[in-house]
Amino acid sequence: MNAEIIAVGSELLTPQRLDTNSLFLTEHLNNLGIEVVCKMVVGDDRSRLAEAVRGALARSEIILLTGGLGPTEDDVTREAVAAALGRSLVFRADLLEWIEERFRRAGRRMAEINRRQAYIIEGAEAWRNDNGTAPGLWVEHDGRVVILLPGPPAELQPMFLRECLPKLERWAPRQVIRTRVYRVAGMPESDLDQLIAPVYRKYANPITTILAAPGDIQIHLRARCATAEEAERLLDELGGQIEVLLGDKIYSRNGESLEVVVGARLRAAGATLSVAESCTAGLLAARITEVPGSSDYFLGGFLVYSADLKVRLLGVPRALLDEHGVVSEPVAQAMAAGARERTQSTYALAVTGVAGPSGGTDAAPVGTVCIGLADSTGADARRFRFPGDRARVRTVAVQTALDWLRRRLG
Ligand code: ATP
Repeated sequence: MNAEIIAVGSELLTPQRLDTNSLFLTEHLNNLGIEVVCKMVVGDDRSRLAEAVRGALARSEIILLTGGLGPTEDDVTREAVAAALGRSLVFRADLLEWIEERFRRAGRRMAEINRRQAYIIEGAEAWRNDNGTAPGLWVEHDGRVVILLPGPPAELQPMFLRECLPKLERWAPRQVIRTRVYRVAGMPESDLDQLIAPVYRKYANPITTILAAPGDIQIHLRARCATAEEAERLLDELGGQIEVLLGDKIYSRNGESLEVVVGARLRAAGATLSVAESCTAGLLAARITEVPGSSDYFLGGFLVYSADLKVRLLGVPRALLDEHGVVSEPVAQAMAAGARERTQSTYALAVTGVAGPSGGTDAAPVGTVCIGLADSTGADARRFRFPGDRARVRTVAVQTALDWLRRRLG
């Protein structure tokens, strides 16, 4: 079954307020195997809202609306849903009594306008609100259900959990959603998509979503089935084909970040790592140490921005710098070898490059990055040319360095 969420409130269309109710609802709906296929924010406008509800009813079985259930003229949700369903609003004396009682207990007199909240859509089930005055409503219509919940999260959340969730569980056929997240480094998004689209396009279930960040692509597979076993089987079937196509470009099958994967491999190998950073100036070390417990394998590193420090701290031969330039493979190689030798680490990574926007030369234009990797077999270096602005070049340089080490660790 599919659900749509409509957040009602003109304030949610301003930069000051964000619809967070739908995040809460989506999480719980997904746990029931219900997919949220559309979310909308609609201002306090009766006809626009009625139109949105009609559209949602034409597409989905479950429509949840949040907000706009208050007592004032601009609270239009009840009227708009009634209009969309072609039903009238009916007065419920018991609800009015309950609302009056709430005011009495708070030592206040109910304002006349609150009577509006005692009107419910014909045929609806009404839920009392423990933390406010707006009742929630459940209306079944032609095999669909429309659910109206109050806007304030402190009112919506307890009402949803107490009343709505158990009812939905009984109403919607049992389904499960299972997801798998592959992560891929060292491949442009368009190349990746070209390679795997012919496979994933054959499947409406699982649904495949590709999320690309600089140097890092996530492939999300989402299967929805009657049983967990069936969902896992579908994930294995599609996932298996994607794994064959991408091979060792995939660095994670469960959404783990590259630094976590590299850290786990270093730990498993009983190996240690040090770094020497020029153009990334600490970004690589910061990524590695985002992982708790990384002190088990990460020894530290050198932040060597100037040519002079590369010589003094890492022992890079001055002649090498003069002959090849600071951004060159021989220098990256010597930086890695120097870091490894001075820290006595098992592996050392080095980065030197031109992040831009200025500083590029004919020999090393902006975006040129040389990465060095040293281990017990010696030191090696590779030259890259990354597109994009300064931030992107530095991020991709870090990602590429980590990915090279991951492959070396096997
Ligand atoms: P009540 O009458 O109990 O206030 P209501 O249904 O009329 O309920 P609204 O007036 O629409 O609720 O919203 C009240 C407040 O609740 C908003 O100012 C906002 O702070 C919060 N709110 C409303 N909708 C959302 C949403 N989708 N996500 C997060 N907060 C929301």
